[in-house]
Amino acid sequence: MSRPVTIVTGGSRGIGAASCLRLAADGHDLALGYVSNAAAAEEVAAVVRAAGARCVTVRADTSDEGDVERLFDTAAAELGQVTGLVNNAGVTGPLGRLADARTEDLRHVVEVNLLGYLMCCRRAARDMAALGSGAIVNISSAAATLGSPGDYVHYAATKAATDALTVGLAKELGPEGIRVNAVAPGLIETDMHAAMGVPDRPTRAAGQIPLRRPGAPAEVAAAVAWLLSPDASYTTGTVLRVAGGR
Ligand code: NAP
Repeated sequence: MSRPVTIVTGGSRGIGAASCLRLAADGHDLALGYVSNAAAAEEVAAVVRAAGARCVTVRADTSDEGDVERLFDTAAAELGQVTGLVNNAGVTGPLGRLADARTEDLRHVVEVNLLGYLMCCRRAARDMAALGSGAIVNISSAAATLGSPGDYVHYAATKAATDALTVGLAKELGPEGIRVNAVAPGLIETDMHAAMGVPDRPTRAAGQIPLRRPGAPAEVAAAVAWLLSPDASYTTGTVLRVAGGR
């Protein structure tokens, strides 16, 4: 049997990096997308290759149509037909109330988290339809249902849109043998919180989480790997919450 070929956007750090490591261990070859941190991307790629997987790194801003096309073209040229997509690259912008948010920050979050996901899903849908099979996992967030008041309702809105995209696209692509699911993490220990200006945010919020701790990227990656695996062959259109009960 040929090895699955999976694209992971935002594979250089956090949940995307953990997904790359887990998928490599599970026998996937990988196209690892990143936007600026080439050193982090190469570090993850080296571990992936040491695990026996093929890996190509591609600098690609997922909010840019040309970059998305190049990411998929490179993956296919270097690794063969793409069978999986982990739509993961995401941003929040600064924490705060919507009333205080800058338009440029709102636009960036919508363009990366929503337009980027749509363009990656569109290209995956085209390629996988030609193949007659495939699996997509969109990384959503528990914020989609919590709303995240005072923190980032705009980000939560893009994640709710991710859930709608997942449900609708699963119905659209099911007849073509393509499964589409989402994973909705809660507070996970990654660089994302430092980027918002509060590196210890996940630990600080532990008291609000029923399991009383933030999650690790590998715990999200396990859900991603399952949804991409044959064990999830009858699972499509679902949003799997990995949020410690929150
Ligand atoms: P992270 O540690 O901040 O990593 C973000 C990743 O996305 C990096 O690999 C970054 O690349 C890449 N990226 C950012 N903007 C991009 C763009 N325009 N085009 C392509 N790649 C881009 O984030 P994370 O916490 O792992 O988050 C990953 C996903 O999980 C996101 O969709 C996020 O919304 C979701 N999520 C996270 C949490 C959490 O608590 N951490 C909770 C729920 C959901 P560079 O390395 O090149 O900068």
